[in-house]
Amino acid sequence: MDVLENELLKYHTTMKVGGPAKYFITANTIHELIEAYKFAKQKNLPLEVIGDGSNIIFTDNGFDGVVVKNNTKGFKLNSNGILKVNSGEKWDEVVKKSVQANFSGLEALSWIPGTVGGAPVNNIGAYGQECKDTLLEIEALDTTSGNIVTLSNKQCNFSYRDSIFKSLNRHKYIILSVTFALNKVSSGQQYNMPNYKSLQQKLIDLKINNPTIKDVRNAVIKLRKSKLPDPTKIPNTGSFFKNPIVSNIKYSLLLKKYADMPAYSYSSTEKKLYSGWLLETAGLKQYSCNGIGPYQKQALVITNTKDGNYKDLEIVFKHIQKTVYDVFEIKLEIEPEIIK
Ligand SMILES: Cc1cc2nc3c(=O)[nH]c(=O)nc-3n(C[C@H](O)[C@H](O)[C@H](O)COP(=O)(O)OP(=O)(O)OC[C@H]3O[C@@H](n4cnc5c(N)ncnc54)[C@H](O)[C@@H]3O)c2cc1C
Repeated sequence: MDVLENELLKYHTTMKVGGPAKYFITANTIHELIEAYKFAKQKNLPLEVIGDGSNIIFTDNGFDGVVVKNNTKGFKLNSNGILKVNSGEKWDEVVKKSVQANFSGLEALSWIPGTVGGAPVNNIGAYGQECKDTLLEIEALDTTSGNIVTLSNKQCNFSYRDSIFKSLNRHKYIILSVTFALNKVSSGQQYNMPNYKSLQQKLIDLKINNPTIKDVRNAVIKLRKSKLPDPTKIPNTGSFFKNPIVSNIKYSLLLKKYADMPAYSYSSTEKKLYSGWLLETAGLKQYSCNGIGPYQKQALVITNTKDGNYKDLEIVFKHIQKTVYDVFEIKLEIEPEIIK
């Protein structure tokens, strides 16, 4: 197990900001992942496990503790659709293999960056599917007891871009592997694709009538490539703000002033609004600081085009939050985790 000192975290996150980690370890096996946890415990230092760093941001001060990059591999899919993968596997590789084997359940989550371990933390979602929909259980190291435990889907307490790994029990668990229950689609069998408008429209545009799982994956990839910046070329963390949820009453008041404000039903009493629309309508699309600012094709994504640092990013997101609040009285919540 190699231990690096003062490794710059900007090289390990897709936003490309972040100062040095006191210690930085790459874990290639579950054994090394557990050893890294023991190393931090021995030194009495805080531990952060990261995957591809596509939903985490470190400040310019870096991290005065141990950062472990999870690179543990392992993929097992049986004929009943039970898929068990180690947490360092690349998420999209896993989706690709499950689609190639004709199992449905993950295809709408194609092309999302990151690792399998990062997926349940944020309960990733896109085009009508969420990680929680097919997740059966998680094997994790309980850092309080040092034991390996199995958590059921229910125990993970999933909700919109949230789970116990993010809020309630942050740092309690290191996810080692994730098991999904997928659905086999036999040839000739009608496949119930995710019910999501823009995805259905894309398939119509592509002149595909009875889409297969592979067609859905390809359509999702086309849609994503057309509007999201590739983080390996333009640093970003995907959606920077969550889409806010407001009461139906608040929405009807907003509609009086902004008749074209888009929204969709989140529950019988709530609407989910579009942060991208709020940013654009508040006149923030052109706002930037040292090359950090909204992506022109999708304002919800903040890109770092000129090697800006965390300080620049903070100026940008605080200005956006304040302006959106001043205009709409809506508080925008940040989606990626910021480690201070
Ligand atoms: C261009 C782009 C598009 C995106 N699109 C979407 C999208 O459509 N939908 C969506 O939901 N997200 C999206 N994201 C966000 C991101 O890709 C996901 O949240 C992804 O699952 C993060 O995985 P990661 O391995 O990069 O996690 P990291 O960013 O490395 O870590 C994220 C969090 O998970 C924790 N973590 C990571 N691995 C483990 C582990 N093994 N055990 C315990 N905790 C762990 C970290 O400590 C941190 O708190 C997008 C990001 C980008 C850059």
